[in-house]
Amino acid sequence: MAMDKEEKFLPSFARFKKQHHPGEEMTAPRFGGQPRGSKVSNQALINFDLKPEELEAYLDEYLIGQPEAKAVLATKICTHFHRVRYMLERGSRFNDTGFVKNNIIMIGPTGVGKTYMVKLIANRLGVPFVKGDATKFSETGYVGGDVEDLIRDLVQEADGDVERAQFGIVYLDEIDKIASSGNLIGPDVSRTGVQRALLKPLEETEVDLRVPHDPVSQLEAIEYYRRTGQRKRRTINTRYILFVVSGAFGGLEEIIRKRLHKQGLGFMAEVASKHDTEVNYLRFVKSEDLIEYGFESEFVGRLPVITVFDPLTVEDLYLILTNPNSTVIVNKKRDFRAYGIDLVFEEAALRRLAELAAQEQTGARALVRVIERALIPFEKRLPSLGAKFLVVSKELVEDPEGMLGTFEASFRSPEWEARYLKVLEEENRRITEFISQKKAHLLKKQGLKLTPERLELAVKLHRRDDLDIHQALEELFILMRQVKNYERSFERRTGFKVVFSEEAVDRILKHIIEMDQGVYAYCDRIVNLLEYGLRLLNERTGKSRFVIPPEAIEHPEQYLNRLVQESYRPPR
Ligand code: ADP
Repeated sequence: MAMDKEEKFLPSFARFKKQHHPGEEMTAPRFGGQPRGSKVSNQALINFDLKPEELEAYLDEYLIGQPEAKAVLATKICTHFHRVRYMLERGSRFNDTGFVKNNIIMIGPTGVGKTYMVKLIANRLGVPFVKGDATKFSETGYVGGDVEDLIRDLVQEADGDVERAQFGIVYLDEIDKIASSGNLIGPDVSRTGVQRALLKPLEETEVDLRVPHDPVSQLEAIEYYRRTGQRKRRTINTRYILFVVSGAFGGLEEIIRKRLHKQGLGFMAEVASKHDTEVNYLRFVKSEDLIEYGFESEFVGRLPVITVFDPLTVEDLYLILTNPNSTVIVNKKRDFRAYGIDLVFEEAALRRLAELAAQEQTGARALVRVIERALIPFEKRLPSLGAKFLVVSKELVEDPEGMLGTFEASFRSPEWEARYLKVLEEENRRITEFISQKKAHLLKKQGLKLTPERLELAVKLHRRDDLDIHQALEELFILMRQVKNYERSFERRTGFKVVFSEEAVDRILKHIIEMDQGVYAYCDRIVNLLEYGLRLLNERTGKSRFVIPPEAIEHPEQYLNRLVQESYRPPR
């Protein structure tokens, strides 16, 4: 995901990231006061205006399934930042002692999108993100230091910008490994100790930014002073840092099942066994189950939001593969494109890959593996063979070596070409649908009209220039803006106002994308042809605003003749 291009779609919080210079102290002229604790500037959040539903819609573009987790995370993380902004705007006089952070526990198996979701959110918000592993804490027995290391990493992720790092997200995986359950092997005392050591950072603590006795950080401080004449902030407060912890929590389901039974809610189990369907007991998880699992109540208390991720079904895996934003397929296509080979997947192949991946029980991670397994022989052979495309079929997925021989013998045949073109069409249809479904709201909000012609052009850019959907649309809208700018510059230059009609803009975009030309050069060529006629018309009729129809783009001479003839007509 190339976030740079995407930035224009991002809320102002993310744009702040670009404007703000790392390491600089920011002042907060409008809102004055500072909250207690370390000196916090509110500039970083002043323009934060993202709504939970917008964030959820964004997640929908990338992440398949997990509707509940999406809703919970999008809402709680958005609220966290709005709440923080609200407090910062009110300054130190505002009593915020009741502030409880919406730290989050995510429960779910591996490879189902837990990390991906938090990363996407952090990217969308433009806040720094780090991921650590709780098992490391119990192994080293040096929890305080390890958490502090993570916070320092966050500052590094924010390019040394402490202001931004204060609003970062810290993600701790394998949190279930620090539960002091009797079922687990190992010293429980140390696990409880790890939980206790995490209590303070989860809530609020000052972390020293310089690693004690580390010559590198001391040198950095000297260098910073030399450059800016200011002393670098030496601590960071974790008050506004959001913590998200996750784990598979094996055995938790049983605890929940037992509780539900005890509470007389066992009917769900009966329903499940009668209908042989699976009840996901995790859905009913409560804090008390986590305490039973082996967490201290204080620890659970600092993680008030609990959300559950579902295992991915074959259908989910298939949808991941067909999502134009899916990095799994995009990456593989890029591998082949690097050799000048266009890789396309038939629908049946995608289904088979999803089925094979589901058998591995490692969620979406398995997709990469099954795809590699099928394609490595081709990745090796095709670059020397000189094939320009590869159609991945179901047979290929099931028997790569066998299909390699067949493909080698027949890759120039019209049958392959026909299959290739058919898949291309299918892919185009999918991308078009994707854009109109997922992007409509966004584009409307920006006041940008996406005509069917423009949609087609975005798909073309996506495919031809290997841009992701965001980038392709962004590229298209940059071109549209350039056409508008051209209109303005023409008016300044000549005193006439030319306005290209919507259809004319579509034609212009089509030409410049197909011929890979610059907007200005192209528009200039068209308008230069028309200028004589426009002047004539202006002299005769006094008219100085002209709407340019598509005809003028396609057949400028014909249009010009018409203009001139019109100019001879007596004004009505
Ligand atoms: P985990 O749940 O173990 O944190 P990840 O979020 O790291 O798993 O998933 C690994 C990769 O698999 C992601 O980077 C993403 O490409 C893909 N992936 C996982 N779940 C989904 C999903 N629900 N939708 C789309 N892609 C997914």
